[in-house]
Amino acid sequence: MRQHRKRIVLNEEEIQIRNYMEDCVLDLLESILDSLNACKCDNCVHDVYALALNNLPPKYVVSKRGEVYTKLSALIQQFEVDITSAITNGSVIVSKAPRHDD
Ligand SMILES: [Zn+2]
Repeated sequence: MRQHRKRIVLNEEEIQIRNYMEDCVLDLLESILDSLNACKCDNCVHDVYALALNNLPPKYVVSKRGEVYTKLSALIQQFEVDITSAITNGSVIVSKAPRHDD
């Protein structure tokens, strides 16, 4: 039934599909973790990052390799409240069950 379906191949060398919400969260992550006095070991930071992104809408954009997305700061402004609360909630969850070894 599906044998005639044409496969789409994206040229990942030149053009990337990126989720700019990832950049927005990264941009705010450190200062928010600082203000919460949260652990900033690699395990905890990655766990908070993933938890926060799971609770935020993805914002996919097409960009050419190396191109800086000029609307990033506008996106951060638009979603700052949501991003801050997603990071804060993620940090609370991680701090209750941290995966770092000590
Ligand atoms: Zn940690």
